[in-house]
Amino acid sequence: MASPGQQPVNGGVSFWYRSIGLPRPRPALPGDVEADVCIVGAGFTGLWTAYYLKRQQPDLRIVLLEKEFAGFGASGRNGGWLSAELAGSRDAYAATHGKQGVVDLMRAMRDAVDEVIDVAKNEGIDADIAKDGLLHVARNQAQLQRLHAGLRHEQDWGADPLDFVALSRSEMDERIRVAGSLGGIFSPHCARVQPAKLVQGLADAVVGLGVTIYEQTTVSRIDAGRAVSDRGTVRAPTVLRCLEGFTGSIEGQKRSWLPMNSSMIVTAPLPPDVLDRIGWGGAELLGDYAHGYMYAQRTVDDRIALGGRGIPYRYGSRLDERGATQQWTIDALTALTREMFPATADVPIDHAWCGVLGVPRDWTATVDFDRGTGLGTAGGYVGSGLTTTNLAGRTLADLVLGNQTELTRLPWVGRRVRRWEPEPLRWLGVQSMYALYRTADRREARGLGHTSRIASVANKITGR
Ligand SMILES: Cc1cc2nc3c(=O)[nH]c(=O)nc-3n(C[C@H](O)[C@H](O)[C@H](O)COP(=O)(O)OP(=O)(O)OC[C@H]3O[C@@H](n4cnc5c(N)ncnc54)[C@H](O)[C@@H]3O)c2cc1C
Repeated sequence: MASPGQQPVNGGVSFWYRSIGLPRPRPALPGDVEADVCIVGAGFTGLWTAYYLKRQQPDLRIVLLEKEFAGFGASGRNGGWLSAELAGSRDAYAATHGKQGVVDLMRAMRDAVDEVIDVAKNEGIDADIAKDGLLHVARNQAQLQRLHAGLRHEQDWGADPLDFVALSRSEMDERIRVAGSLGGIFSPHCARVQPAKLVQGLADAVVGLGVTIYEQTTVSRIDAGRAVSDRGTVRAPTVLRCLEGFTGSIEGQKRSWLPMNSSMIVTAPLPPDVLDRIGWGGAELLGDYAHGYMYAQRTVDDRIALGGRGIPYRYGSRLDERGATQQWTIDALTALTREMFPATADVPIDHAWCGVLGVPRDWTATVDFDRGTGLGTAGGYVGSGLTTTNLAGRTLADLVLGNQTELTRLPWVGRRVRRWEPEPLRWLGVQSMYALYRTADRREARGLGHTSRIASVANKITGR
């Protein structure tokens, strides 16, 4: 591990894999194969879908096709917030299903947090899970205003008073001492997870149920009844595209979901005196109210893993090389860590990495299955995919099996979303949005006292 002043490891998929070791890839697709269900992409969406399909109908022949190894994408690189946050805009969901539809989805998300924890327990997956809740901290007046507005918003949508509890500055300090804190909000519906352990455990559980995962197999084309890869074609009446940030790698899908980049760093284990000064005694997840927000967790071995936006989007939907991120992103996340937790000044940064998540044009997630063609998909979770993939997997399984359940009636099922603009508009839109967010955050940090109008302009540009 790094010593002070030494450069952190950059990439290598993620620190989560460095701590458990990269898995040995499973065999590739041996040629043309027939199946009942073909799932493309072995991240959480694909794996949860396979899991629930096989649990409900054990005789289904399910084949999963994966470019690298199960959990190579965002599922093995994320911040480990197993949270009940909705993946998208309530207004978009309410437009078709009214307020009750949104309330149902919010309840389903809270249940999904516990469902993941239960499955991990029942399948014997040790993923450092601890459900100590989620803290959001406000670090300037503008953020504090958004905190209070957010609280009212949750209550308007029917949240129970115990779902979101406002904390004064001293109450926040009692949980985690963040420099410059003016107060926070606590929500109990969130658990800390080591994502690579969870996704590897889930892949093993799925294989144990009789699903075949072919790794090192890149799919280039999906049509009704078949998925075409560099190793052969899988023919199946049901083909499910579960690629989130990688969706653009399939022919004709470049403009569906934008691959948004998010980066993380992790410190070396904090010495006990540093941890004492920060006071992060539990496994609460931590976020803030900045426009270019941060997310953090205290790992099981007392590190701080902290993430945020780096280069948000690469021209032409290009992807990273096995998680390597840019130096200025590492510097920015390091500076933020030191600023929020001055006690970490001498604690080395051990590792930095990044990954892509999927962003639809209306920033709202979708589960979709067309019985006529047998084609389906789920994703566009906009950074809230860890819990949402479980709900999506259960929902896709019900849709494929033709079960009409409360899940298949949720408002994110069957949404049609317009595509992103072609380049260079797509690149210009997202770059300017984040440049404006950075400016808005700087102005608010200098004491603007209210939300900068620049941030609303940024939202308008990309329809967020
Ligand atoms: C840095 C980062 C931090 C995040 N933090 C959080 C968090 O704390 N909480 C949260 O809720 N969400 C978080 N997210 C989002 C969350 O991780 C994702 O939404 C979720 O993991 C998506 O799962 P998925 O299975 O849909 O996609 P992925 O996990 O990306 O899986 C897609 C799979 O498809 C494979 N693949 C790609 N192209 C092809 C192809 N052509 N053929 C075959 N296979 C292919 C990939 O290798 C990959 O394994 C974060 C994301 C990132 C990047």
